[in-house]
Amino acid sequence: MEYKIIIFGGGGVGKSSLCIRLTMNKFVSVYDPTIEDVYRTQLTVDNTACYLDITDTAGQEDITGMRDKYITDGEAFVLVYAVDSRPSFDEIKILHNQIKTQKEKNVPIIICANKDDLEPSAHHVKSQEGKDLAKDLNCLFIETSAKTGKNVTDSFSQLVREIRST
Ligand code: GDP
Ligand code: MG
Repeated sequence: MEYKIIIFGGGGVGKSSLCIRLTMNKFVSVYDPTIEDVYRTQLTVDNTACYLDITDTAGQEDITGMRDKYITDGEAFVLVYAVDSRPSFDEIKILHNQIKTQKEKNVPIIICANKDDLEPSAHHVKSQEGKDLAKDLNCLFIETSAKTGKNVTDSFSQLVREIRST
């Protein structure tokens, strides 16, 4: 099976870093923010392999009107915020709303609270706020770090399980 996944989130939250961590298992500290790319990778979830076709968006979608097209094409979505950025957290609701208004059926969505490796003093969004939001929006929730690799594969595995069960 092949699943088409779209990654949305504010600029600088770590969308590209998560893709690179998942597909190449490395961390690049600077990555061109305007690059929009598709990553193809194989993932084995519960002993069953699947292919992921992941679109890493670049934040120009608002202007170009591409977001609608991505939403139409996507089967499941990863919404990323960075724990050190309140505005990126607020953006999750907007993105979620846009997906929900465009997709008729229940679509699998996972919210990633990225940059979890940062010092506690740099966490401007509390873990509990993320969990509460995900519960409200009926989405999955996970705390990730593209830097350390924490929960990166796991976030995509959870999303695959959700796709398979819907
Ligand atoms: P994008 O604009 O959402 O694609 O964000 P990028 O992947 O380009 O990352 C933006 C910046 O945040 C870069 O300097 C990354 O190195 C950094 N970054 C991304 N993920 C993490 C993370 O998990 N932890 C930390 N500490 N920095 C990260
Ligand atoms: Mg990027």
